[in-house]
Amino acid sequence: MSDDRDQYTFDDPRTRFPDISPEVQQQPEPGLQSEMTPVPDLGESTYRGTDRLRGRKALITGADSGIGAAVAIAYAREGADIALSYLPEEQKDAQHVIDEIEKAGRVAIALPGDITDPAHCRALVAAAVDGLGGLDAVVNVAGKQVWKEKIEEIDDEQFELTFKTNVFAPFWIIKAALPHLGPGSTIINTASLEAYKPAPDRLDYATTKGAINNFSKGLAQQLVGRGIRVNVVAPGPTWSVLQVTGGVNPESLPEFGSSESPMGRAAQPAELAPAYVFLASAESSFVVGDTLNVNGGMVTP
Ligand code: NAD
Ligand code: MG
Repeated sequence: MSDDRDQYTFDDPRTRFPDISPEVQQQPEPGLQSEMTPVPDLGESTYRGTDRLRGRKALITGADSGIGAAVAIAYAREGADIALSYLPEEQKDAQHVIDEIEKAGRVAIALPGDITDPAHCRALVAAAVDGLGGLDAVVNVAGKQVWKEKIEEIDDEQFELTFKTNVFAPFWIIKAALPHLGPGSTIINTASLEAYKPAPDRLDYATTKGAINNFSKGLAQQLVGRGIRVNVVAPGPTWSVLQVTGGVNPESLPEFGSSESPMGRAAQPAELAPAYVFLASAESSFVVGDTLNVNGGMVTP
């Protein structure tokens, strides 16, 4: 979208963002989105805040790039201060997001480190609470996705690291955060269409996404009694660096999203951010244990 438009501009969703056909490209994990062609759209020139998260304090994982970065920019423009979790190798992408947060007049606390380490997850929460002066939103967006055609090709290390990143880390982070979360606080986890429609070449990843959905719905029932709401966002095909770091078959990149989604194109990370804003904001006060599917029209249970 161009500079004179924002997320409220009334138009045709099919053509709102370009129908991209990315060239075959590959980077080692976790990759830098700034080196992708095209660079994913985080809503830098379009997201307009309207005070929906004024004064909130959010910890966002995977906040350097893709969906987590779009969420961080949107939250800052809605008035929240942000603690950003990402890997040290991603500093360049993270700096771009930190710059956007600071341009919005909000605080950005940079917390690089590996969330597959439980000690880091606990230190991450402590540093976020310290840097933000409290915490009232935990947004787990970080994820690992490695494409393998056959189960025999998934080694034990990949299987374990995918689970540690996608399932264990949110568990460790949420547990560490809970003592700091008062009534009104919100937790948002990130599943995927893969939770219900597992691609055969992403077995381990799809299984973690089913687990995240299930974990979140159980936890939501537990925590609503403390005034804390847990919900999930389940994205469909979204153009991000996850896809070009072994996330999907590289040969499939030119068709990424266009054949899979009835919308006929992939999403840009900017299109996911509003779902996370809604679920963090008090405006969704009666929405608990739900999964908001943002997938361009694919049928979900
Ligand atoms: P992305 O690569 O831009 O974001 C993933 C982030 O996870 C990385 O930036 C990294 O900071 C973080 N991460 C990974 N391993 C980590 C580790 N060990 N320690 C700390 N941080 C780590 O890609 P994205 O597509 O924006 O992914 C965000 C989330 O959206 C993921 O949970 C992904 O599964 C989910 N999702 C993406 C799509 C899609 O099509 N892109 C579809 C459905 C769900
Ligand atoms: Mg990244």
